[in-house]
Amino acid sequence: MAETTYDSTNIFAKILRGEIPSHRVYEDDAVVAFMDVMPQGQGHTLVVPKAPSRNLLDADPATFGPLFAIVQKVALAVKKAFGADGVTILQFNEPASGQTVYHLHVHVIPRFEGIPLKSHSGQMEKPKVLTENAGKIRGALEN
Ligand code: 5GP
Repeated sequence: MAETTYDSTNIFAKILRGEIPSHRVYEDDAVVAFMDVMPQGQGHTLVVPKAPSRNLLDADPATFGPLFAIVQKVALAVKKAFGADGVTILQFNEPASGQTVYHLHVHVIPRFEGIPLKSHSGQMEKPKVLTENAGKIRGALEN
């Protein structure tokens, strides 16, 4: 049975409300994208719908079209921004799967031949690096 309780005090809800800072790369009426503070690879970006749901299991299916259109847009932008060889898309549902933040989000991670992913929710990245990487992605999204 899927858990259906949405807790609006989760960290991404606070980011969406502007209560805590993030390195944003994209925003429209339905979706925000910002840098993951503990990246599994250079340029690791999170794409987050504004509509509240814990994860994919309790989300309104109407969320997915606009969300995945931006996942693709951001995937193309990070590939271009970092000269990546590929892009990994990850999405976790409930603790058993590895989910740690309970607002639906999709991980977009640029990949490079021979370089493995770092651990999930591992080491904090320096704010300066996140700012630089966000700037590169915004540049790629604009061109
Ligand atoms: P999940 O495990 O829920 O799929 O992923 C949550 C992601 O959020 C992790 O990759 C983690 O590094 C990231 N994260 C956790 N706290 C914060 C935060 O305060 N700001 C940002 N930008 N990312 C966070």
